[in-house]
Amino acid sequence: MDAAQDCIFCKIAAKRTQASIVYEDDLFVAIEDASPQAPVHILVIPKKHISEIKDITSGDEELIKKWFWVAVQVASERGLDKAGYRTVVNNGAGGGQTVGHIHIHLLSGRKFSWPPG
Ligand code: 5GP
Ligand code: ZN
Repeated sequence: MDAAQDCIFCKIAAKRTQASIVYEDDLFVAIEDASPQAPVHILVIPKKHISEIKDITSGDEELIKKWFWVAVQVASERGLDKAGYRTVVNNGAGGGQTVGHIHIHLLSGRKFSWPPG
């Protein structure tokens, strides 16, 4: 079984697993996080299986540009830009990544501290 077959976010993108989808186009899906860490906690996920940001290749350049564009649009549509929001991309186990398919965490609705935990 290849990584994409066994990947929870690939399954969600393919509608083989249920999720609360808040945005979708041909390249991306954005979902409510199942374990929200803020009043708004959305994951912006490319439908293409890429395990970690270190696995992004030059052929993904347009996809990655649009990835952040989608996050900004989802935030703007919800009015999150007024109060501000945090975007997070964890990378690798040491970076706190638990799902091996890249995703932007879009968090809002509370105060965020720095440095992050
Ligand atoms: P990471 O730790 O990889 O940066 O973030 C993975 C995120 O995916 C976590 O915030 C976790 O709550 C969320 N998550 C894991 N499995 C599922 C799932 O099956 N459905 C949804 N909606 N979120 C999930
Ligand atoms: Zn995947």
